[in-house]
Amino acid sequence: MAEFTMELNDEQKEVRDWLHGFAADVIRPAAAEWDEREETPWPVIQEAAKVGIYSLDFYAQQYFDPTGLGIPMAMEELFWGDAGIALSIVGTGLAAVGVLANGTEEQIGTWIPQMYGDANDVKVAAFCSSEPDAGSDVASMRTRAVYDEAKDEWVLNGTKTWATNGGIANVHVVVAVVDSELGSKGHASFIVPPNTPGLSQGQKFKKHGIRASHTAEVVLENARVPGSCLLGGKEKLDERLARARERAKAGNGERVKNAAMATFEASRPAVGAMAVGTARAAYEVALDYAMTREQFGRPIIDNQGVAFQLADMRTSIDAARLLVWRASWMAVNGKQFTAAEGSMSKLFASETAKKVTAQAVQILGGNGYTREYPVERMHRDAAIYTIFEGTSEIQRLVIARTLSGMSIR
Ligand SMILES: Cc1cc2nc3c(=O)[nH]c(=O)nc-3n(C[C@H](O)[C@H](O)[C@H](O)COP(=O)(O)OP(=O)(O)OC[C@H]3O[C@@H](n4cnc5c(N)ncnc54)[C@H](O)[C@@H]3O)c2cc1C
Repeated sequence: MAEFTMELNDEQKEVRDWLHGFAADVIRPAAAEWDEREETPWPVIQEAAKVGIYSLDFYAQQYFDPTGLGIPMAMEELFWGDAGIALSIVGTGLAAVGVLANGTEEQIGTWIPQMYGDANDVKVAAFCSSEPDAGSDVASMRTRAVYDEAKDEWVLNGTKTWATNGGIANVHVVVAVVDSELGSKGHASFIVPPNTPGLSQGQKFKKHGIRASHTAEVVLENARVPGSCLLGGKEKLDERLARARERAKAGNGERVKNAAMATFEASRPAVGAMAVGTARAAYEVALDYAMTREQFGRPIIDNQGVAFQLADMRTSIDAARLLVWRASWMAVNGKQFTAAEGSMSKLFASETAKKVTAQAVQILGGNGYTREYPVERMHRDAAIYTIFEGTSEIQRLVIARTLSGMSIR
C-alpha cells in the first residue's frame, strides 16, 4: 500500500507539466471556438491522440498509479485548459473504465482499442446509464436486455439520455435491466459494437456549458448484440443474480446496496478533480485581473472586499484538492469509504467550482460577463459538476446515510 502523500513524485511532476503544456498551448486557445460551435473538437482529440494523451495506455497508467494521484492530477490539468474539450478527451476513458472494471480480459482486449481508434482515425466511446425517468433514481431504469438463447444474443430495447458521446461513439456501453425484481442489482452492462442495427442517436442537447462535449439521447430498438458482449460473461451474471436473489429473500438488501456504493466512491473523486481544474483556471484569471485592473487610482485587489474573495477562493480550491486526493488514494489502496469520502470530495469540489467561477465573474466586472474573457464560459461549464455523476443532493444523501447507517430520504 502506498503512503498518502501530498507531494507528486518526479515522474508525476513531469507528466503534470507535459499535460499543463498541452492544456495551455492546445486546449485553452481552442476553447472559445468549440464552445461557440457546440461540436465535438475532433482536431483537438486527434492532436491529443498524436502526443499520447488520448490513449488507453495513458489513461491506464494514471488509473493504476499506486499513489492514487495520477487521475486527479491529469483531470485537473486538462480541465484547467477547458472543461468541454477535456470532457471530449476523457469521456472515452470513463466508458473504458466500465469495461476495465467489469469486462473479461478478452473483452478488454477486443473493445477498448476500438473505443479509441488510432491517431489517424480517432474514435470515441459512450457510457449510457441515465434515462428520461431514471436519473438520480437509477433503480427505475427501464431499458431491457433479453437473452435469446437460440442465437446466443442479447436484445436491447429502451431510451438512454444524457449520454456523453452518445450516437457518435464507435462503441457504446449500455446498462440495462436483466431482472426487474432486483432493482439496481438486476442491471448488467453490455457492449454495443460499432454499426449495430437498432442503435440510433435521438436528440442532441443544446447545453448551458461544456458545449464542446456532445451529449445526446441513444435509442435502442431491438438492438441485437452477441452473447460475448455481456460484460463479465453470462456465468458471472447468473452467479451474481443468484446471490442477489438469495440476499433479497433473506431480507439482506441493505448490505447489497452498501456494497454497490464502493464503485461510485472510487469514481467520484475524478469528477471532483475536473471541478478543481475549472475552479483553479477561473481563480487564476481573477487574480491576474485584480492585480492589473485599476479603479480609484489603485489595483482593485487593494480593496479587502476583492482581496478577501481571492483568499477564500484559493483556500476552497486547495481544500477541495486535498479531499479529492485523499479519496483517490483511498480508492486505489482499497480503503473502506466509512464516511463516503469519495462523495464528500465530489460534493465539495463541485460546489467550490460553482462558487469560485461566480466570484471570478464578479471580480472581472462587466468583462466577466462577456465572452471576451474566459470566466464567463468557465462559470457556465462549472454548473455541470453539481449535476452529473450524482447531483450534490445525492452526494449529501450518500454521505448522510453512510454516517448514520439510516436510510434517510
Ligand atoms: C452534460 C451531461 C452529461 C452527462 N453524461 C452522462 C453520461 O455520459 N452517461 C450517463 O449515463 N449519464 C450522463 N449524465 C446524466 C447525469 O448523471 C444525470 O443528469 C444526473 O444523474 C441527474 O439526473 P436527472 O438529470 O434525471 O435529475 P433528477 O434525478 O430528476 O434530479 C432533479 C433534481 O432533484 C434532486 N433530487 C432527486 N432525487 C432526490 C432525493 N432523493 N433527495 C434530494 N434531492 C433529489 C436532484 O438533486 C436534482 O436537483 C449527464 C448529464 C449531463 C447534464
